[in-house]
Amino acid sequence: MTLSTPPLTPSRSRVFDRPAARFTDDERLEVRASALGQCRRALWYAATDQEVTNPMTDETKLVLEAGQALEPVVVRAMQRRFWTVSPADPDAPWRVEVEALPGLSVSGHPDATGAIELFGDESVIEVKTRGPEAFKRWQTLGAERSHPESVAQAACYTLGVYGDFRETVIATLDTGSRRWDYEVIPAARVERAWNRACERLAPLAEHHEVHGADPEALPERDFSASDWQCRRCPYLNACQPGMAEANEADDLDEETLEPVSDDDAQAALHEYERVQKQLKSLDADKRGALKTLQHWLQRKGEVKARLEGSAKTRTVGMVTSRRYSVDHQRLNALLEPEQRAEIVTEQTSEYLRVS
Ligand code: SF4
Repeated sequence: MTLSTPPLTPSRSRVFDRPAARFTDDERLEVRASALGQCRRALWYAATDQEVTNPMTDETKLVLEAGQALEPVVVRAMQRRFWTVSPADPDAPWRVEVEALPGLSVSGHPDATGAIELFGDESVIEVKTRGPEAFKRWQTLGAERSHPESVAQAACYTLGVYGDFRETVIATLDTGSRRWDYEVIPAARVERAWNRACERLAPLAEHHEVHGADPEALPERDFSASDWQCRRCPYLNACQPGMAEANEADDLDEETLEPVSDDDAQAALHEYERVQKQLKSLDADKRGALKTLQHWLQRKGEVKARLEGSAKTRTVGMVTSRRYSVDHQRLNALLEPEQRAEIVTEQTSEYLRVS
């Protein structure tokens, strides 16, 4: 029995599921705007129609399709917040094609256009969905640092729709908390994102000029096998034969460095739960004691007092603390990405969560 796959909307698969790059009938190289950040060798594989050796897993497809399905939800949420938004018609979306370099164009379908809240000028709105970590990273660092390819994509649409660069909106939904937020990228920075994308594509355009559409002549690799771009690349086995297995073996090696049996893990979890329970009840006791001390101080009409403890005399006092918060949306709009990189720095740490 053959099962057919229903598209998200009747036209979605037809219009949006285009290759990342292709050669047009008049022998130009056309790159999909949403693939601007992709490895240039992978774009060449796609354009020369080479066989996919490492297809997407069902899990990855599910995440991708869920993200696409949620984009209209973000547009409706914007409309409810008084944005004037014209979403693309899923059955007949606008197609934008911009000549980036001689012989190379970038094309795509803008998600929406609209005016920023009540009084803004009309501009392109690029809608994204992100998991909680990526959403936080985008909010804090700004799109140009966290997802530069999405700014280049929006820049292409802005140029294609209006013929010039103007301030552009990236609206993003956190798929975990289902909150959405937006960032306005000023026109000068939209233009810079586009120029950077064109600089990056220039060697690919030259490669095309020299080799024509030759599938055997491959551009340089942009990444190495351990990078996530290669691990997710549909052409990994064609580009770096054997590396998919090597990556899997590495993953396995890392996992088996210190073998822990399921029984050991179960025992560790039970121990964790036992300690957590104790800590919770100790914490409740501590909070109760502090509350009593606070009432005692208030009744005395003092903010600080000395009291004999079991081992030494202690000071009991009220402390005022302040928290400072940064409006990342305004900060991102005001500062260049380079200035922000000096102010908002990124640290990563790893920890184990049991939930
Ligand atoms: S495997 Fe890596 S280097 Fe090769 S085409 Fe894919 S992303 Fe590029």
